[in-house]
Amino acid sequence: MFDLIGDVHGCIDELWDLLEKLGYRKGLTIYPRTDRKVIFCGDLNDRGPDSLAVLTVAMGMVCDGSALAVIGNHDDKLRRALSGNQVKATHGLAETLAQLETVDQGKRNEIRDFLNTLPIELILDDGKLSVSHAGLPESLQGKTNGHAKSHALFGATTGKTDDRGYPERLDWAKDYKGSRVVVHGHTPMKEVRNLNNVWCIDTGVPFGNKLTALQYPEMTLVQVPSIKNYQPFHPF
Ligand code: MN
Repeated sequence: MFDLIGDVHGCIDELWDLLEKLGYRKGLTIYPRTDRKVIFCGDLNDRGPDSLAVLTVAMGMVCDGSALAVIGNHDDKLRRALSGNQVKATHGLAETLAQLETVDQGKRNEIRDFLNTLPIELILDDGKLSVSHAGLPESLQGKTNGHAKSHALFGATTGKTDDRGYPERLDWAKDYKGSRVVVHGHTPMKEVRNLNNVWCIDTGVPFGNKLTALQYPEMTLVQVPSIKNYQPFHPF
C-alpha cells in the first residue's frame, strides 16, 4: 500500500537507487505504481549534494499522484526563505538556496508553492497510520494547532541544548499507547527503531549511513547505503 521514505536531505543518488529498488524507476524515468504510493516523511532538502534534484523528483511524484509528503523542519525553513522571510541559512540551507539560484524565479515559485501545500500530518489507511516528520503522540494526532505543528516539525524538546548545540529531545515514544501506527523521520539513527508502534525511519543518509523505506502494512524495510558521508560528523 505505502512505501514510507525517511529524510532524504538532498541525497539524490540514494533516492534514485531506492526508487529503483522499490519498483518506481526504470532508467531515467519514474513510473507511478497502481498498487502503492510513496510517502515522503519530510526533510527533502539540505545537507546532501543536490536538494534541487530531490525537490524536483518529489514534486513530480506528488503531482502525478505517485507520492504524498509531509513537511519537515528543513522544508519549512526553505519555504519561509522562498517566501521572503529572514531565516538563518544554517544546517545546509545556504547550499540549497545557492542551488536554487541556478534556476529561474518561476521554478523557485513552483517549489515554494509545492512546499506550501504540504501538511504537517497525514492520517492514512482508514485512520490506522499517522505520518509526520517528527511524529505525533496520540493527544496531538489529527490536530492542527501550534503545539501539534511544532511537535510535528521538531518533536518534543526539553528546551536545553546538548554540547554540540542540538536540542535535547524527549523520548515520548517510550510511553506511546495509541491505536495508530506512527511513522516519522527527523531523528537520525543508525538503525530503524520501532518502539510501541512508533517507527523512526530516518537512517541518516547524508551522514554516510543509509536511506530507508518502510513498506506498510507489511512493515518490511527496503534500504540503500549512502554513497558517501556528505557531512563532517556522525550524529549517532
Ligand atoms: Mn532531518
